[in-house]
Amino acid sequence: MMIRTKAMQSRGAVTQSLPTARPGARIVPALDRRTETIIVGAGIAGLACARRLHDAGRALVVISEDVGGRIQRSCDGAVNLGAYYVRADYAHVNRYVRLGRRIDRLAIRRYDTDGRAYTYWDRRLFLHLPQAARFLRLLLQFRRRYDNLKQRTVRIGQAAAIRSDPALGRLYQQPAADFIGQHQLTDLARLYLAPGLHGTTFASLGDLTAFALLLGALPVLVPAYEFTARFDLLVDGFADAIVADTVTAISAHGAGYHIATKAHGPLFAKRVVIATPTDVAARLLGLPATKRGVAAHMFHVTGTLRDPYRQADIHLFPETEPTLAIARQEGGAVLVTSRQSDPDLDRYFTNWRVVEHKHWDPAFHLIGHNLLECEQGPNLYLIGDHNIVGLEDAYLTGLYAANQIISKTGAPDRVTGPSFAAHHLATSGAPSPGS
Ligand SMILES: Cc1cc2nc3c(=O)[nH]c(=O)nc-3n(C[C@H](O)[C@H](O)[C@H](O)COP(=O)(O)OP(=O)(O)OC[C@H]3O[C@@H](n4cnc5c(N)ncnc54)[C@H](O)[C@@H]3O)c2cc1C
Repeated sequence: MMIRTKAMQSRGAVTQSLPTARPGARIVPALDRRTETIIVGAGIAGLACARRLHDAGRALVVISEDVGGRIQRSCDGAVNLGAYYVRADYAHVNRYVRLGRRIDRLAIRRYDTDGRAYTYWDRRLFLHLPQAARFLRLLLQFRRRYDNLKQRTVRIGQAAAIRSDPALGRLYQQPAADFIGQHQLTDLARLYLAPGLHGTTFASLGDLTAFALLLGALPVLVPAYEFTARFDLLVDGFADAIVADTVTAISAHGAGYHIATKAHGPLFAKRVVIATPTDVAARLLGLPATKRGVAAHMFHVTGTLRDPYRQADIHLFPETEPTLAIARQEGGAVLVTSRQSDPDLDRYFTNWRVVEHKHWDPAFHLIGHNLLECEQGPNLYLIGDHNIVGLEDAYLTGLYAANQIISKTGAPDRVTGPSFAAHHLATSGAPSPGS
């Protein structure tokens, strides 16, 4: 099978910029190898799949608009404009990050609708200790089941793993508001859970499921850290198989799939893994229904914070506020997360300058109960954060798809020779990705 096309042959040594995650990197196609697996998307899910396939000796090509996807460092390396933290239980992802400051959850300042600030040490929490104790018990139960779910995800797939645990399956369907009412957590939810989830999920409690609420609250139990991604480690050995391009359509063709791309024309592959965000995957695969997306603006700001915002590193706001979070970084830069494109920064700073702005729309698909299957057709896989948002869960879906491909294909591709196209990343002296 040959997926090298006339368009590709005539293009020669085209150079294209590889955005964000590898500043200054260029891709130079050298169309002299072949592979049978194409992964569309080089976010954490696609790269996890590629890493596993490569380690098992399988040839692959990753076609992607960038490297890193929603893991995105600002151009000056001061802040993460996408995923903000990793938890200590991110067993796979944490191999490929440099951990930064531990997020001190006790020092986080939350704000009430009247603007008053409080922390976990506030006497309000002591007034609601029975609710806090009930919630901790529920969270511990959830954590046990969720840990077990992650183990099973790699073997049976994420959707099947969620369905096969009746308690988790119920939480996945149950609105967070019902869960809060059922367990009489109203005050705790308003004062502590809502601002925390608003700042990290960009959604209000009323939009979340009980599963998303508990998952988002896990940093109460599990330490969370700021981080810098080390894509150089993650793509080590297969960086030359990552091609900068946009996939516009996928269609079944004989024993495989036709893949239409913007820059390299039509390609053909026996096995395809779609590792794009949900909205793109829905377009490419014609998915009937997905969860709804939430959006957020991230601002990398330098300036002088006013009181009380200078008194703590992290500030979380109630659902009535358009500002979602303010996080002061170790180097002094500040990350402001907002629902607005033009937030009132004078409110938080005496003087300020926006160094970089990133609008994620959608940031992720979180609202709803839809479970998407990994297997979308013969040798056609869907991976990513479509069912569970977060880096580690997205990584695990990539592992599952790779394991399926490995188990269905006999000897490693490299024994018979790679079978498709090679593309070299020429770094043009730029810093290593994520380093
Ligand atoms: C602002 C923000 C904050 C977050 N905070 C956290 C956090 O603190 N902790 C956490 O665990 N998670 C967090 N998340 C969620 C986490 O980032 C995602 O769940 C995870 O990165 C999803 O990875 P993915 O590989 O599924 O998708 P993505 O990272 O989106 O990767 C998709 C890839 O597909 C490529 N692509 C898209 N369309 C095409 C196309 N047509 N053709 C070819 N390639 C295409 C993209 O270029 C990209 O490389 C956050 C997300 C955002 C946006």
